[in-house]
Amino acid sequence: MHDLIISDLSKTYKNGVKSLQNVSLQIPKGMFGLLGPNGAGKSTLMRSIATLQEPDSGSIQWGNLNILAHPNELKKVLGYLPQQFGVYPTISSEMLLHHLAVLKGIIHRSERKDMVDALLNKVNLYEVRKQKLGGFSGGMKQRFGIAQALLNNPKLLIVDEPTAGLDPIERNRFYNLLSEVGEDTIVILSTHIVEDVKQLCTRMAIMNKGEVIIRGNPIQIIENLQGMLYEKTIYKNELDQYKKEYQVISDRFYLGKQMIHVISETHPGSDFTPIKANLEDVYMSAIVND
Ligand code: ADP
Repeated sequence: MHDLIISDLSKTYKNGVKSLQNVSLQIPKGMFGLLGPNGAGKSTLMRSIATLQEPDSGSIQWGNLNILAHPNELKKVLGYLPQQFGVYPTISSEMLLHHLAVLKGIIHRSERKDMVDALLNKVNLYEVRKQKLGGFSGGMKQRFGIAQALLNNPKLLIVDEPTAGLDPIERNRFYNLLSEVGEDTIVILSTHIVEDVKQLCTRMAIMNKGEVIIRGNPIQIIENLQGMLYEKTIYKNELDQYKKEYQVISDRFYLGKQMIHVISETHPGSDFTPIKANLEDVYMSAIVND
């Protein structure tokens, strides 16, 4: 399968917000994680790839397909789960999937039934297929959202902050489902939850203020920070002073104490403890230093 190649994508909204600034990314088959704080531009990028919104400039190429020039060709192979996914509360998941399948052009009744049943099983909703969607929990709605996104066996699946509002068990189930899909599909997953990317993705990018500030393989990206990270427990009222003296990338309460993580080329002092970097540290240092 060809990589998805995004080149120099830019978008400025009418209110002057530069939501994408020369974004270029190469996205191979598998799970690709797009991390960044709220407002970083993740949704704008995903809507642009899904051709739901036009960028001001740039291109998106997939093999021979120029996506921005031929949105209808893309839609045949695209699955999309938007951030806000509304369902019709009064009809069942089975009925809505049938309806959406018809809209996607799957008009042959028995073919459609097979597909809908298989999807309901895949997302673990077969038992409740007759229940009204309005009574579904957040996790069930998300699983339904994934089922509709998978209707036409997409080759490109885009999911925008899919784990927001899921409890840990639902989230885990959702991870498993996505990983399975990612085996033969390009899956782009946007999230502000670092854990999502750590668990799932072989490639990732961190966005901030409309720009890609870090990209690559999560393990390699973490490796780049090893040997430079230190930890110290301080008093809360010392925090401002430490921020002035050191490159503090995070501070949090841990067991009633204030814990800081500091980046330093050399050992910052004997009262600091060297620690192993993880993806949270990478994320925090990228955003703090941007
Ligand atoms: P993310 O998905 O990372 O939270 P978004 O792509 O939603 O980021 O937003 C990027 C920036 O663009 C934010 O500052 C947001 O307020 C702004 N923005 C998003 N959509 C619109 C819009 N339709 N009109 C104006 N500004 C927008």
